[in-house]
Amino acid sequence: MFRVDLHVHTTFSGDSTISPKTVVEKLNAHPTVKGVAITDHDTTEGYFKVHRLADAYTDLVIIPGIEVRTERGDIIILGVDEEPEQPNTLRSTLNFAAETHGVVLIPHPYRSPGIGDFALNMRSDAIEVFNPTATPKENMMAQRLAEAGQLPRVAGTDAHSADEMGIAFTEVEAQPNAESILEAIRNGLVKPVYSEKQSLRWHDFL
Ligand SMILES: [Zn+2]
Repeated sequence: MFRVDLHVHTTFSGDSTISPKTVVEKLNAHPTVKGVAITDHDTTEGYFKVHRLADAYTDLVIIPGIEVRTERGDIIILGVDEEPEQPNTLRSTLNFAAETHGVVLIPHPYRSPGIGDFALNMRSDAIEVFNPTATPKENMMAQRLAEAGQLPRVAGTDAHSADEMGIAFTEVEAQPNAESILEAIRNGLVKPVYSEKQSLRWHDFL
């Protein structure tokens, strides 16, 4: 079992204060969450920086990803280190994901700008059922969406500042490498975990 935060933004997102160096330091300091997917807004530049910095640590897993803003709402594609061509429509983004064999994750479906019920009309691999930036009600609705679509459920922090990291993560039945983790998400071998308990927050370990 491997623990990974599937939704983190670096300074390359423009609206996050988490430097690539901080991502690696936080992961290194955390006792159990040793993986992260870098899901910056419309860029994979931050992923490359984090990946390079993490090279010095053998136990950390950095998964490439991107959060794309479409006319229907946000979509995360995991497992890709390239960027789709602008402008991004839902259709072009899903085509890009299919061409690059990316894992399609629906983040915060009911927190704006989320895809909402429309997720049931499109191909996706997993639903983010816990996102600390969404309200409990919005997360509950995401839970129901995953049930209705019989889709795997994952959790991510959507962290934009260092102290937001660690509230949520996903337990994956996988080997500690990006390929194995992505395959496990596709196969539903995932469990969302979240806690408001201080003991699970990253800054307690720094
Ligand atoms: Zn996000």
